[in-house]
Amino acid sequence: MERETLEFDVVFVGGGPANLSGAFHLAQLVKKHNAAVESGEVKGASLGEIEIAVIEKGASVGAHILSGAVMDPKGLRELIPDFVEQGAPLEAPVKEDHFLYLTRTRAIRSPITPPPLMNHGYFIVSLNRLTAWLGEKCEEVGVNVFPEFPGADMLYDEADRVIGVRTGDKGIDKEGKRKANYEPGVDLHAKVTVLGEGPRGSLAKQLVQRLNLDEGREPQVYSIGVKELWELPDDRYPAGRVTHTLGFPSDSNTYGGGWAYGMQNRILNIGYVTGLDYQDPLLDPHAEFQRFKQHPFLAKLLEGGKMIRYGAKTIAAGGYFAMPKLYADGVLLVGDCAGFLNSQRLKGIHSAIKSGMLAAETIFAALLAGDYSALQLKQYEERVNTSWIMPELRKVRNFHAAFQRGRWLGIANAGLQFLTGGRSWGLFDRTRATAGHEEMKKLSRYGYRGDALEQRYRDLRFDGKTTFNKLTDVYHAAVGHDEDQPAHLHVLDTNICSTRCAEEYGNPCQRFCPAAVYEMVDSGNGERRLQINFSNCVHCKTCDIMDPYQIINWVTPEGGGGPDYKGM
Ligand code: SF4
Repeated sequence: MERETLEFDVVFVGGGPANLSGAFHLAQLVKKHNAAVESGEVKGASLGEIEIAVIEKGASVGAHILSGAVMDPKGLRELIPDFVEQGAPLEAPVKEDHFLYLTRTRAIRSPITPPPLMNHGYFIVSLNRLTAWLGEKCEEVGVNVFPEFPGADMLYDEADRVIGVRTGDKGIDKEGKRKANYEPGVDLHAKVTVLGEGPRGSLAKQLVQRLNLDEGREPQVYSIGVKELWELPDDRYPAGRVTHTLGFPSDSNTYGGGWAYGMQNRILNIGYVTGLDYQDPLLDPHAEFQRFKQHPFLAKLLEGGKMIRYGAKTIAAGGYFAMPKLYADGVLLVGDCAGFLNSQRLKGIHSAIKSGMLAAETIFAALLAGDYSALQLKQYEERVNTSWIMPELRKVRNFHAAFQRGRWLGIANAGLQFLTGGRSWGLFDRTRATAGHEEMKKLSRYGYRGDALEQRYRDLRFDGKTTFNKLTDVYHAAVGHDEDQPAHLHVLDTNICSTRCAEEYGNPCQRFCPAAVYEMVDSGNGERRLQINFSNCVHCKTCDIMDPYQIINWVTPEGGGGPDYKGM
């Protein structure tokens, strides 16, 4: 069967806020330019029809989009100044900010909210709904939006210039054979390809490695956010109330914190972030979230409520020093894919939108010049550097790394940085910034002995009311994958699982995966083997990041598979 090739001017890979904003902005820039040329207002040639595509691996735009989220509207206001009047789906303006320090039994209210967590003037949003709305806006201005189109491979020419992207094949069975409905992926050729796949993008990973875009940069550091939506029985937590917590259940060596945001219709959005640079090999971010809900303050808040949705997603937290080079011949990186998140403010939607817009302006200039080389696209990095994004990220450039020295030094450092505009020295210096998986210690070094695997969460019970096991939670993520397809989680050497990894780390994939995908099972001959329940996967990418041997490779499954984060 012939592989089809489609020609576009620009292809945006990933239907998140950065790419949708970029595609929308570019379509408008082209339209305005052509109208100005036609009216004689601007001299020069019209660009004519510029074909712009956004491809998205989820079944619909927004299906795989998950975030806290309190949005600083700065970016959206620049993109669509009258976004409120145009009906952007906003849950509520922030009306109250609370900051709590949790001990095991107490919630100590901070008399002041730390300035980076002040959210006055911002909006609580469901990023799933917001991106679905941005997808509609894109279609209104003529952008081709293709859901169920996973980007599987980058396409390069003989000089290693990016010339587009190949989407995944459909209709391959679990043995790798073609089924009756087989359809080869499509080659989408483009003058410029924009990667906005979110944290740890699978194509961005290939691209960065192949073109050394991370040369001289620090390793990216990630966190994982695990989240549920709850329906509360009354108005005990009003829409617009924002609470952030520090402390329980994380120990002081582990970066972590919780949130509770009030949404419309008595929906409570609650979640917990764990830094994916933890040291304890037995730590389980999903279990940490369950313990968080057992804290008396949260348990009381949830009493009589009903959990209705679940999701998990990684967050690129390394910031300024960990950002790769943002351009190469024929390609740009935007949004979380490039690490634009401000981890101190827990905000990245505004900068994702802005990065998409700056990419659009760069591509517009490239279309006018007819030049898509790295030399021309370098303008993107220059635009980013001179926009409000970089001053914001520079101010918090040392924020996350200091937490690799523990909570208290991290907090002290954050305070100092606030006063000094982000400077860091001595104890807090960045010499210790390492890739997260390198921080994980072996069982013996962490002091676990004997029945170690039973120790960490022996008090945690899943009662089905406040706390849920992973399978129950996965059910509430509405995950769907065709089971008759090859697993999209490639473990490059499974022998390590039953030997070295079992002994050294106790198979941490069983714990860091928030969806019970990895399971060590009896192989029938007295040995244990790895079983991959890939159909549970919520596409969080934690395994690709946190595996201590770096032998797990997450690739895109068949289009449309994955979670459905409606309302998340
Ligand atoms: Fe996340 Fe990997 Fe588990 Fe999928 S298999 S849910 S990407 S940790």
